[in-house]
Amino acid sequence: MKDLLSKKTREIVPYVAGEQPKGTDIVKLNTNESPYAPSPRVFEAVSSVNGEILRKYPEPAGGAFREAAAALCNVKVSQIFCGNGSDEVLAFAFQAFYGPERGLTAPDITYSFYPVWASLYDIPYRTIPLNDRFLVNVEAFFGLDTGVVIANPNAPTGIALTKKEIELILINNPNHVVILDEAYVGFGGESAIDMVSEYDNLLVVRTLSKAQSLAGIRAGYAVGSEALIDGMMRIKDSVNSYPVNRMTSEAAAAALRDGQYYRMIADRIMKTRTWTTDTLRSLGCTVPDSKANFVFAAPPEGITAKQVFETLKENKIYVRWFNLPRIDNYLRISIGTDEQMEKLAACLKKMLN
Ligand code: PMP
Repeated sequence: MKDLLSKKTREIVPYVAGEQPKGTDIVKLNTNESPYAPSPRVFEAVSSVNGEILRKYPEPAGGAFREAAAALCNVKVSQIFCGNGSDEVLAFAFQAFYGPERGLTAPDITYSFYPVWASLYDIPYRTIPLNDRFLVNVEAFFGLDTGVVIANPNAPTGIALTKKEIELILINNPNHVVILDEAYVGFGGESAIDMVSEYDNLLVVRTLSKAQSLAGIRAGYAVGSEALIDGMMRIKDSVNSYPVNRMTSEAAAAALRDGQYYRMIADRIMKTRTWTTDTLRSLGCTVPDSKANFVFAAPPEGITAKQVFETLKENKIYVRWFNLPRIDNYLRISIGTDEQMEKLAACLKKMLN
Protein backbone atom coordinates (compact mmCIF):
# COMPACT_ATOMS: atom_id res chain seq x y z
CA MET A 1 0.00 0.00 0.00
CA LYS A 2 1.18 3.52 -0.78
CA ASP A 3 2.25 5.46 2.29
CA LEU A 4 1.75 9.16 1.79
CA LEU A 5 2.29 10.18 5.41
CA SER A 6 5.48 11.55 6.91
CA LYS A 7 7.47 9.42 9.33
CA LYS A 8 6.48 11.85 12.10
CA THR A 9 2.77 11.45 11.35
CA ARG A 10 3.03 7.69 11.32
CA GLU A 11 4.88 7.57 14.60
CA ILE A 12 3.31 10.29 16.74
CA VAL A 13 0.90 9.15 19.47
CA PRO A 14 -1.66 11.99 19.61
CA TYR A 15 -3.39 13.32 22.70
CA VAL A 16 -6.91 11.96 23.17
CA ALA A 17 -9.42 14.60 24.27
CA GLY A 18 -12.37 13.68 26.51
CA GLU A 19 -15.49 12.46 24.77
CA GLN A 20 -18.17 14.94 23.70
CA PRO A 21 -21.24 12.69 23.86
CA LYS A 22 -24.48 13.76 22.15
CA GLY A 23 -27.76 13.95 24.04
CA THR A 24 -29.34 16.28 26.55
CA ASP A 25 -29.84 13.86 29.44
CA ILE A 26 -26.12 13.26 29.98
CA VAL A 27 -24.30 14.35 33.13
CA LYS A 28 -21.05 15.46 31.55
CA LEU A 29 -18.23 15.60 34.09
CA ASN A 30 -15.36 14.49 31.86
CA THR A 31 -13.67 17.57 30.37
CA ASN A 32 -13.66 20.15 33.18
CA GLU A 33 -16.04 22.50 31.41
CA SER A 34 -17.96 24.97 33.55
CA PRO A 35 -21.52 23.96 34.42
CA TYR A 36 -22.51 27.65 34.33
CA ALA A 37 -23.11 29.97 31.39
CA PRO A 38 -20.56 32.62 30.42
CA SER A 39 -21.14 36.20 31.60
CA PRO A 40 -24.11 37.96 29.93
CA ARG A 41 -21.53 40.58 28.84
CA VAL A 42 -20.01 37.95 26.53
CA PHE A 43 -23.30 37.56 24.66
CA GLU A 44 -23.67 41.34 24.39
CA ALA A 45 -20.13 41.68 23.05
CA VAL A 46 -20.50 38.95 20.45
CA SER A 47 -23.87 40.18 19.21
CA SER A 48 -22.59 43.72 18.86
CA VAL A 49 -19.86 42.68 16.41
CA ASN A 50 -20.70 44.28 13.09
CA GLY A 51 -21.00 41.36 10.67
CA GLU A 52 -19.60 43.45 7.86
CA ILE A 53 -16.24 43.62 9.62
CA LEU A 54 -15.82 39.84 9.34
CA ARG A 55 -14.84 40.47 5.73
CA LYS A 56 -11.48 41.60 7.06
CA TYR A 57 -8.75 39.70 8.87
CA PRO A 58 -8.63 40.25 12.62
CA GLU A 59 -5.87 42.04 14.50
CA PRO A 60 -2.96 39.52 14.33
CA ALA A 61 -1.97 39.69 18.03
CA GLY A 62 -5.48 39.38 19.50
CA GLY A 63 -6.81 42.96 19.61
CA ALA A 64 -9.34 43.63 22.38
CA PHE A 65 -8.60 40.25 24.00
CA ARG A 66 -4.92 41.12 24.34
CA GLU A 67 -5.67 44.53 25.81
CA ALA A 68 -8.14 43.12 28.33
CA ALA A 69 -5.65 40.42 29.39
CA ALA A 70 -2.92 43.04 29.88
CA ALA A 71 -5.23 45.20 31.98
CA LEU A 72 -6.29 42.23 34.09
CA CYS A 73 -2.71 41.07 34.69
CA ASN A 74 -1.39 44.59 35.14
CA VAL A 75 1.32 44.18 32.49
CA LYS A 76 2.14 45.84 29.17
CA VAL A 77 0.18 44.70 26.11
CA SER A 78 3.52 43.57 24.66
CA GLN A 79 3.78 41.05 27.50
CA ILE A 80 0.66 39.15 26.40
CA PHE A 81 0.40 36.43 23.77
CA CYS A 82 -3.12 35.39 22.70
CA GLY A 83 -4.05 32.12 21.02
CA ASN A 84 -6.79 29.81 19.89
CA GLY A 85 -7.13 28.07 23.26
CA SER A 86 -4.29 27.53 25.71
CA ASP A 87 -3.39 24.26 24.00
CA GLU A 88 -2.26 26.31 21.03
CA VAL A 89 -0.49 28.84 23.27
CA LEU A 90 1.37 25.98 24.97
CA ALA A 91 2.27 24.41 21.62
CA PHE A 92 3.74 27.73 20.43
CA ALA A 93 5.60 28.15 23.73
CA PHE A 94 7.13 24.67 23.47
CA GLN A 95 8.41 25.51 20.00
CA ALA A 96 9.65 28.94 21.03
CA PHE A 97 11.66 27.81 24.08
CA TYR A 98 12.63 24.16 23.67
CA GLY A 99 13.89 21.90 20.94
CA PRO A 100 16.23 19.00 20.26
CA GLU A 101 19.03 21.06 21.91
CA ARG A 102 17.08 21.99 25.02
CA GLY A 103 14.81 19.44 26.65
CA LEU A 104 11.95 19.75 29.05
CA THR A 105 11.18 18.34 32.50
CA ALA A 106 7.70 17.83 33.99
CA PRO A 107 6.13 15.84 36.82
CA ASP A 108 5.36 12.23 35.80
CA ILE A 109 1.66 12.75 36.46
CA THR A 110 0.42 15.88 34.73
CA TYR A 111 -1.43 17.13 31.67
CA SER A 112 -0.89 14.37 29.15
CA PHE A 113 -0.66 16.78 26.22
CA TYR A 114 2.85 17.91 27.31
CA PRO A 115 4.67 14.74 26.19
CA VAL A 116 2.75 14.80 22.90
CA TRP A 117 4.01 18.29 21.97
CA ALA A 118 7.49 17.33 23.15
CA SER A 119 7.41 14.36 20.84
CA LEU A 120 5.98 16.40 17.94
CA TYR A 121 8.75 19.02 18.24
CA ASP A 122 11.58 16.58 19.03
CA ILE A 123 12.05 17.94 22.54
CA PRO A 124 13.76 15.46 24.88
CA TYR A 125 11.16 14.99 27.66
CA ARG A 126 12.03 13.89 31.17
CA THR A 127 9.73 13.32 34.13
CA ILE A 128 10.19 13.57 37.89
CA PRO A 129 7.81 11.39 39.91
CA LEU A 130 5.23 12.92 42.22
CA ASN A 131 5.35 11.37 45.68
CA ASP A 132 2.82 8.80 46.91
CA ARG A 133 0.40 11.58 47.83
CA PHE A 134 0.79 13.11 44.36
CA LEU A 135 2.80 16.08 45.66
CA VAL A 136 5.54 17.66 43.53
CA ASN A 137 9.04 17.14 44.94
CA VAL A 138 9.98 20.79 44.54
CA GLU A 139 13.70 20.40 45.21
CA ALA A 140 14.00 17.73 42.52
CA PHE A 141 13.17 20.54 40.06
CA PHE A 142 16.20 22.65 41.09
CA GLY A 143 19.21 23.13 38.84
CA LEU A 144 17.90 21.26 35.82
CA ASP A 145 19.63 21.40 32.45
CA THR A 146 16.25 21.65 30.69
CA GLY A 147 13.16 23.81 30.66
CA VAL A 148 10.30 23.05 33.04
CA VAL A 149 6.55 22.79 32.57
CA ILE A 150 4.26 22.62 35.57
CA ALA A 151 0.49 22.78 35.72
CA ASN A 152 -0.56 24.66 38.84
CA PRO A 153 -2.96 23.43 40.14
CA ASN A 154 -1.83 20.15 38.62
CA ALA A 155 -4.06 18.08 36.39
CA PRO A 156 -5.50 15.52 36.88
CA THR A 157 -4.75 15.62 40.61
CA GLY A 158 -6.08 19.12 41.39
CA ILE A 159 -3.25 19.65 43.89
CA ALA A 160 -1.63 23.11 43.91
CA LEU A 161 1.88 24.35 44.67
CA THR A 162 2.29 27.55 46.66
CA LYS A 163 3.68 30.70 45.06
CA LYS A 164 6.76 30.33 47.22
CA GLU A 165 7.43 26.84 45.83
CA ILE A 166 7.04 28.14 42.28
CA GLU A 167 9.44 30.95 43.07
CA LEU A 168 12.06 28.47 44.28
CA ILE A 169 11.79 26.55 41.00
CA LEU A 170 12.23 29.84 39.08
CA ILE A 171 15.23 30.94 41.13
CA ASN A 172 16.89 27.58 40.71
CA ASN A 173 16.50 27.42 36.92
CA PRO A 174 17.48 30.95 35.83
CA ASN A 175 18.65 29.96 32.36
CA HIS A 176 15.61 27.99 31.26
CA VAL A 177 12.01 28.96 30.66
CA VAL A 178 9.61 27.67 33.28
CA ILE A 179 6.09 27.39 31.86
CA LEU A 180 3.41 27.57 34.49
CA ASP A 181 0.10 26.31 33.16
CA GLU A 182 -2.56 28.06 35.26
CA ALA A 183 -5.55 26.54 33.45
CA TYR A 184 -7.24 25.82 36.79
CA VAL A 185 -5.98 28.68 38.95
CA GLY A 186 -9.38 30.37 39.14
CA PHE A 187 -10.70 27.92 41.72
CA GLY A 188 -8.65 28.72 44.79
CA GLY A 189 -5.01 28.40 43.66
CA GLU A 190 -2.40 31.18 43.96
CA SER A 191 -1.45 32.80 40.66
CA ALA A 192 2.19 33.58 39.85
CA ILE A 193 1.35 36.34 37.36
CA ASP A 194 2.78 39.08 39.55
CA MET A 195 6.18 37.34 39.47
CA VAL A 196 6.47 37.81 35.71
CA SER A 197 8.09 41.23 36.11
CA GLU A 198 10.69 39.83 38.48
CA TYR A 199 11.60 36.56 36.70
CA ASP A 200 12.41 36.78 33.01
CA ASN A 201 12.31 32.97 32.75
CA LEU A 202 8.63 32.70 33.79
CA LEU A 203 5.82 32.21 31.30
CA VAL A 204 2.33 31.91 32.78
CA VAL A 205 -0.30 30.34 30.51
CA ARG A 206 -4.02 30.81 31.10
CA THR A 207 -7.22 29.61 29.49
CA LEU A 208 -10.75 31.00 29.36
CA SER A 209 -12.15 27.48 28.96
CA LYS A 210 -12.58 26.78 32.66
CA ALA A 211 -13.17 29.70 35.03
CA GLN A 212 -14.63 31.89 32.25
CA SER A 213 -16.97 29.14 30.93
CA LEU A 214 -15.72 29.67 27.38
CA ALA A 215 -14.33 26.31 26.22
CA GLY A 216 -16.40 26.73 23.05
CA ILE A 217 -14.76 29.93 21.85
CA ARG A 218 -11.16 28.70 22.18
CA ALA A 219 -9.22 31.42 23.94
CA GLY A 220 -5.98 31.22 25.89
CA TYR A 221 -3.13 33.60 26.64
CA ALA A 222 0.39 33.72 27.97
CA VAL A 223 2.02 36.36 30.16
CA GLY A 224 5.78 36.85 30.23
CA SER A 225 8.66 39.18 29.52
CA GLU A 226 8.62 41.03 26.20
CA ALA A 227 11.51 38.85 25.01
CA LEU A 228 9.59 35.60 25.65
CA ILE A 229 6.41 36.97 24.05
CA ASP A 230 8.41 38.15 21.07
CA GLY A 231 9.82 34.63 20.68
CA MET A 232 6.31 33.20 20.66
CA MET A 233 5.24 35.79 18.04
CA ARG A 234 8.07 34.55 15.81
CA ILE A 235 6.61 31.04 16.00
CA LYS A 236 3.02 32.25 15.52
CA ASP A 237 4.07 34.23 12.46
CA SER A 238 5.66 31.10 11.08
CA VAL A 239 2.50 29.02 11.52
CA ASN A 240 -0.69 31.13 11.49
CA SER A 241 -0.70 34.92 11.59
CA TYR A 242 -4.26 35.20 12.96
CA PRO A 243 -4.93 32.56 15.60
CA VAL A 244 -7.60 34.66 17.38
CA ASN A 245 -10.72 35.44 15.37
CA ARG A 246 -12.72 38.64 15.89
CA MET A 247 -15.65 37.01 17.66
CA THR A 248 -13.33 35.25 20.08
CA SER A 249 -11.40 38.44 20.71
CA GLU A 250 -14.55 40.38 21.66
CA ALA A 251 -15.99 37.53 23.73
CA ALA A 252 -12.72 36.95 25.60
CA ALA A 253 -12.27 40.67 26.32
CA ALA A 254 -15.81 40.95 27.70
CA ALA A 255 -15.26 37.89 29.91
CA LEU A 256 -11.95 39.13 31.30
CA ARG A 257 -13.57 42.46 32.18
CA ASP A 258 -16.39 40.85 34.17
CA GLY A 259 -14.52 39.64 37.24
CA GLN A 260 -17.55 40.04 39.47
CA TYR A 261 -19.69 37.52 37.62
CA TYR A 262 -16.88 34.98 37.42
CA ARG A 263 -15.99 35.28 41.10
CA MET A 264 -19.59 34.44 41.87
CA ILE A 265 -19.63 31.24 39.80
CA ALA A 266 -16.14 30.19 40.96
CA ASP A 267 -17.40 30.46 44.55
CA ARG A 268 -20.35 28.29 43.66
CA ILE A 269 -18.10 25.68 42.03
CA MET A 270 -15.75 25.65 45.03
CA LYS A 271 -18.69 25.11 47.39
CA THR A 272 -19.91 22.19 45.27
CA ARG A 273 -16.34 20.85 45.23
CA THR A 274 -16.27 20.77 49.04
CA TRP A 275 -19.60 18.94 49.13
CA THR A 276 -18.41 16.47 46.47
CA THR A 277 -15.10 15.80 48.25
CA ASP A 278 -16.84 15.19 51.58
CA THR A 279 -19.47 12.96 50.00
CA LEU A 280 -16.94 10.86 48.08
CA ARG A 281 -14.82 10.45 51.21
CA SER A 282 -17.88 9.39 53.20
CA LEU A 283 -18.38 6.65 50.59
CA GLY A 284 -14.84 5.39 51.21
CA CYS A 285 -13.12 7.04 48.24
CA THR A 286 -9.62 8.51 48.50
CA VAL A 287 -9.78 12.16 47.37
CA PRO A 288 -6.87 14.62 47.61
CA ASP A 289 -7.80 18.24 48.40
CA SER A 290 -8.42 19.90 45.05
CA LYS A 291 -7.88 23.53 44.08
CA ALA A 292 -9.33 22.97 40.61
CA ASN A 293 -12.81 22.56 39.12
CA PHE A 294 -12.50 18.79 39.38
CA VAL A 295 -11.62 16.17 41.97
CA PHE A 296 -9.42 13.12 41.58
CA ALA A 297 -10.89 10.11 43.34
CA ALA A 298 -9.96 6.47 43.89
CA PRO A 299 -12.81 4.12 44.79
CA PRO A 300 -12.69 2.00 47.97
CA GLU A 301 -11.35 -1.56 47.81
CA GLY A 302 -13.50 -4.12 46.05
CA ILE A 303 -14.15 -2.14 42.88
CA THR A 304 -11.79 -0.59 40.34
CA ALA A 305 -11.89 2.90 38.89
CA LYS A 306 -12.41 1.35 35.47
CA GLN A 307 -15.50 -0.52 36.70
CA VAL A 308 -16.87 2.66 38.29
CA PHE A 309 -16.15 4.60 35.09
CA GLU A 310 -18.02 2.06 32.98
CA THR A 311 -21.02 1.79 35.31
CA LEU A 312 -21.32 5.55 35.53
CA LYS A 313 -21.25 5.74 31.75
CA GLU A 314 -24.05 3.16 31.49
CA ASN A 315 -25.99 5.54 33.73
CA LYS A 316 -25.18 8.45 31.39
CA ILE A 317 -22.70 10.02 33.79
CA TYR A 318 -19.41 10.74 32.01
CA VAL A 319 -16.19 11.16 34.02
CA ARG A 320 -12.56 10.76 32.90
CA TRP A 321 -10.49 7.62 33.45
CA PHE A 322 -6.85 7.59 32.34
CA ASN A 323 -5.39 4.19 31.59
CA LEU A 324 -1.93 5.33 32.68
CA PRO A 325 0.62 4.03 35.18
CA ARG A 326 0.02 5.09 38.82
CA ILE A 327 -3.36 6.72 38.15
CA ASP A 328 -5.39 3.95 36.55
CA ASN A 329 -7.33 3.45 39.76
CA TYR A 330 -8.45 7.08 39.88
CA LEU A 331 -11.23 9.01 38.20
CA ARG A 332 -11.11 12.69 37.37
CA ILE A 333 -14.53 14.12 38.03
CA SER A 334 -15.37 17.66 36.91
CA ILE A 335 -17.44 19.74 39.31
CA GLY A 336 -20.89 20.24 37.83
CA THR A 337 -24.02 21.78 39.31
CA ASP A 338 -25.23 20.61 42.73
CA GLU A 339 -27.93 18.60 41.00
CA GLN A 340 -25.42 16.83 38.73
CA MET A 341 -23.14 16.00 41.66
CA GLU A 342 -26.10 14.64 43.62
CA LYS A 343 -26.90 12.33 40.68
CA LEU A 344 -23.28 11.17 40.64
CA ALA A 345 -23.32 10.57 44.40
CA ALA A 346 -26.58 8.62 44.22
CA CYS A 347 -25.21 6.39 41.47
CA LEU A 348 -21.95 5.80 43.37
CA LYS A 349 -23.83 5.01 46.55
CA LYS A 350 -25.80 2.27 44.76
CA MET A 351 -22.62 0.90 43.22
CA LEU A 352 -20.52 0.88 46.35
CA ASN A 353 -23.13 -0.61 48.69
N1 PMP B 1 -3.82 22.93 30.40
C1 PMP B 1 -4.43 22.01 31.14
C2 PMP B 1 -3.76 21.54 32.38
C3 PMP B 1 -5.69 21.50 30.76
O1 PMP B 1 -6.28 20.55 31.47
C4 PMP B 1 -6.28 21.98 29.57
C5 PMP B 1 -7.64 21.48 29.14
N2 PMP B 1 -7.64 20.23 28.55
C6 PMP B 1 -5.59 22.93 28.82
C7 PMP B 1 -4.38 23.39 29.25
C8 PMP B 1 -6.10 23.42 27.50
O2 PMP B 1 -7.24 24.18 27.58
P1 PMP B 1 -7.76 25.02 26.35
O3 PMP B 1 -7.03 24.58 25.11
O4 PMP B 1 -9.22 24.74 26.30
O5 PMP B 1 -7.47 26.44 26.66
